[in-house]
Amino acid sequence: MFADLKAVATDPILGLMAAYKEDPNPNKVDLGVGVYKDEQGHTAVLNCVKQAEALRLKQEDSKTYIGMAGDINFNLHMEKLAFGSSHKALLADRLTTAHTPGGTGALRVAAEFIKRANPDATVWVTTPTWANHISLFQAAGLKVKEYAYYDYETRGLNEEAMFADLAKIPAGDVVLVHACCHNPSGMDLTFAQWQRFTELAQERGFTPLVDMAYQGFGAGLDEDAAGLRHLADAVSELILCSSCSKNFGLYRDRIGAVTIMSQNSAQAQNVKTNLLSVVRSIYSMPPAHGAIVVSHILDSTELTALWYQELAEMRNRINSYRQLIIDKLAAQGVEQDFSFITRQHGMFSFLGLTKAQIAQLKTDYSVYMVDSSRVSIAGLNHSNIDYFAAAVASVLKA
Ligand code: PMP
Repeated sequence: MFADLKAVATDPILGLMAAYKEDPNPNKVDLGVGVYKDEQGHTAVLNCVKQAEALRLKQEDSKTYIGMAGDINFNLHMEKLAFGSSHKALLADRLTTAHTPGGTGALRVAAEFIKRANPDATVWVTTPTWANHISLFQAAGLKVKEYAYYDYETRGLNEEAMFADLAKIPAGDVVLVHACCHNPSGMDLTFAQWQRFTELAQERGFTPLVDMAYQGFGAGLDEDAAGLRHLADAVSELILCSSCSKNFGLYRDRIGAVTIMSQNSAQAQNVKTNLLSVVRSIYSMPPAHGAIVVSHILDSTELTALWYQELAEMRNRINSYRQLIIDKLAAQGVEQDFSFITRQHGMFSFLGLTKAQIAQLKTDYSVYMVDSSRVSIAGLNHSNIDYFAAAVASVLKA
C-alpha cells in the first residue's frame, strides 16, 4: 500500500535550515527561519518562562487530562490579551476559546470548524501569505483563493487592488487577515485600512479570520491588536487564531489558541460543542505545559511585568536593525532605496532581491534567506551585519 506513494517536496525553509547547518563557512548568516535570536545568535528561554516553569514543577500535583478546550484560565488570558480585558464580546459571553498545539493547531482547528459551518466556503488569503496557510486549509478540504495584498513594485500595500478584490467576496466565505507583522512581507494594514476592511466585512458579510502569530512583535501588545479590536467591535462573527510561539518564545512547546466570536451567547454555546468535537476528532486534548506556563506568567503581576520587558527587548532589537540595515547598505555604497524596510513590521522584511541574487548570496557568501528574499531580521547581530551588508552590496553591484 505504501509503494505507490510519491515523495513530497520538503518545505523550502526546512531545506534551507538543513543547508545552513551543513555549511562549514564560519561567517555564515541564517536569515531564513522565523525564530527570534538575540545578539549572540541564540534563541534563549525567556526568564519569565524559566520562573513560571519552576513554579509549575513545584505546584503541579496531577497529570490527568485537562479537557478538550484545554486550560480554561489560559483561554481567558488569551481572550483578554487579544480583545482587551473588557471587550463587549468577552463580557457578553460571545467568545469560545480552545487552547491548541501552537498557532498552526489553532488554524487547523479553525479550518475544520469552517468546514463544518460551511463546507462550500472559500478561504481567501493574502498574496503572498505564509505558505502553510494554503496547505492547511486545503488539507481540511476547503477551497483557497488569494486576494491582492503586497505590491512588489512599490514595496508597499497594493491597497486599491486589495479592496477591489475584497469587495467581490461573498457572504459565507472566509477572509484571512494577518493581525500584525505580516508574514512574509512585513507590510501591515494601517488603522484606516482596518476600518475600510471592517466596512467591507459588514457590507459583504464575509467572515474574517484573524491570524495573530506575532502579537507584541510589531509596535506593542495593544497596538498590534488594534485592528482586530476595531473589527471585533463592528462585525458580529469572527475567528481568531493566536500563537505564543514568538511572543513567549515557546516555539517547541506548541501553544496557541483558537477563539470564535459568535453573534450572541446562545450561538456561542452551540459553537462550543462544534469546536470541541473538532478538537476531539483530531488530538482529543491539547498538551498542557505551554498553557500552564503562560497562565503562571499572566496570573502574576511580577512575571507579567518581566514578560512585558523581555518582549519589548525582542521587539526593540528587531526594530533597531531595520534602520541599521539601511545605514549599513548605504555605507557600502548601495544607491538603491531601501527605506521601505522601516515601513515594515515584525520579524520579517522583504528585501526585493532577485532569485539570482539570493542564490549568489548563498553560494558565494553563505548568507541564507528564502527565495522571496524574505529575511528574518533577528538573524542579524553586531558581529554579522557588516558582513551581510557587504555581501548584499556586492550582489547588487554584480
Ligand atoms: N501564522 C503565521 C502567519 C505564522 O508566521 C506562524 C509561524 N510561522 C504561525 C501562524 C504558526 O505558528 P506556530 O504554529 O509556530 O505557533
